[in-house]
Amino acid sequence: MTTDADVIIAGAGPAGTIAAYELAIRGVSVLILEKSQFPRYKVCGAGLTYKILREIPFDASPVFETQISNVIFSSGFRDIFTRTSSDPLIYCTMRDKFDAFLLAKAVEAGARVIYGEKVGEVQQQKDYATVVTRSGSFHSQLVIGADGASSSVARSSGLRENMMPGLAWEAEVLVDPAVLKACSQTLFLDWGAFPGGYGWVFPKGDHLSIGVGGPAALSKWMMTYYREMLKYLEEGTWIQSFKSGLLKANSEFQIPDSGFNILGTTSLKSWPIPVRVKKSRFHHGRVLVAGDAGGLTDPLTGEGIYYAVRSGKLAAAACCEYLEAQSPSLNSYTEAVNDELMTELLEANRIKFLFNTAPLKIHRFVCNSDRAWRAFGKVLRGERWYADVRFGFGQWKFLWGLTCYISKWISDYREKRFSKNGFTGK
Ligand SMILES: Cc1cc2nc3c(=O)[nH]c(=O)nc-3n(C[C@H](O)[C@H](O)[C@H](O)COP(=O)(O)OP(=O)(O)OC[C@H]3O[C@@H](n4cnc5c(N)ncnc54)[C@H](O)[C@@H]3O)c2cc1C
Repeated sequence: MTTDADVIIAGAGPAGTIAAYELAIRGVSVLILEKSQFPRYKVCGAGLTYKILREIPFDASPVFETQISNVIFSSGFRDIFTRTSSDPLIYCTMRDKFDAFLLAKAVEAGARVIYGEKVGEVQQQKDYATVVTRSGSFHSQLVIGADGASSSVARSSGLRENMMPGLAWEAEVLVDPAVLKACSQTLFLDWGAFPGGYGWVFPKGDHLSIGVGGPAALSKWMMTYYREMLKYLEEGTWIQSFKSGLLKANSEFQIPDSGFNILGTTSLKSWPIPVRVKKSRFHHGRVLVAGDAGGLTDPLTGEGIYYAVRSGKLAAAACCEYLEAQSPSLNSYTEAVNDELMTELLEANRIKFLFNTAPLKIHRFVCNSDRAWRAFGKVLRGERWYADVRFGFGQWKFLWGLTCYISKWISDYREKRFSKNGFTGK
């Protein structure tokens, strides 16, 4: 059977393009099938943490729009406090630019891409795989499903088990340039307003990306929360905290004298955030799934680009081993994803349960503790991992499992109660 490529990749998001780049630089023939035309809009905060940038095998700074050094925290838009960092914590981009940039690097390295080719399913034969699209079919040795949250590859290959659905709404919002400039290095983060829910504002070059997210079961309350978020940003109750946070840090930033004046909104959209909640299979025969297609997103923060990039790299390494016949199967991929990424994501899920039991107490603890703030920064930079948190309990770390079990129970109860009563019956 003549194949179209050694490896076919469905989807040109970060998981697909990084896998393609890693394969192409090793001389493997790669074909990317992407359903859209590029550059294309993608709903995403597009906050890039250091740990993502460390994993990207080339400099991504040409597509950065802003960098974040300040965070204005709030809990249900109250108890507002500001923290600053001398080093940037996050770089912000827009996904149309970022994804087109990664794809160009993969193409430069030798990958081929066909746009407007929507993958419907993958069929496996003894010696090859067939990728069926709207216009025909393509053949390869191996297939990487990097086709995002609603992955057709994962569905047709039986790789969508143990998924918990999350959901987020986001919009690109135009505001007055003066306040935008004053807040160009500031992330707004609201958490604890409802179980598992959070809201964020990322400043971009000429607008704000404003979003809210949480468990899909609570989606009916999310627009109420989104509107509260806009009100909070407009009213400017955060300015006093911003001012004292910056003064404390001797920062020279300009302080805005009013809240944001919202001039217009584009692209208000919802998008699923799939979360894998159990170690399980990430490959079946000749097919692997990476990134959102595998449910590799952080249940605590919704962050998924790191896991997309990292799983893309692991997928490429497993494909190379298989093609060089150093490995008879793709088992090593499932093992690596479970050992490295799922261990971290399961710990994030436990921390989420713990947070949901006492959100305001934890919020205030982060506000008052320099140690907690430093730990927050280290997690963003990938210098510390969620899996390290249990060690912070010192001699009591054996109680971690029990604490997580009880907090899961409380968290589930609170989520159910909120689902029924919403913000009115808190
Ligand atoms: C509102 C929101 C905000 C977020 N903010 C952040 C953030 O700030 N930081 C962060 O790290 N993560 C964030 N995430 C998560 C992040 O967007 C995803 O985890 C990440 O995009 C996953 O990358 P991926 O390559 O797996 O999939 P995607 O980026 O979804 O890419 C999939 C690609 O496959 C293509 N495709 C889909 N179906 C098919 C098909 N059938 N055939 C062919 N091609 C197909 C799509 O067009 C797309 O190009 C956010 C998510 C949401 C919803």
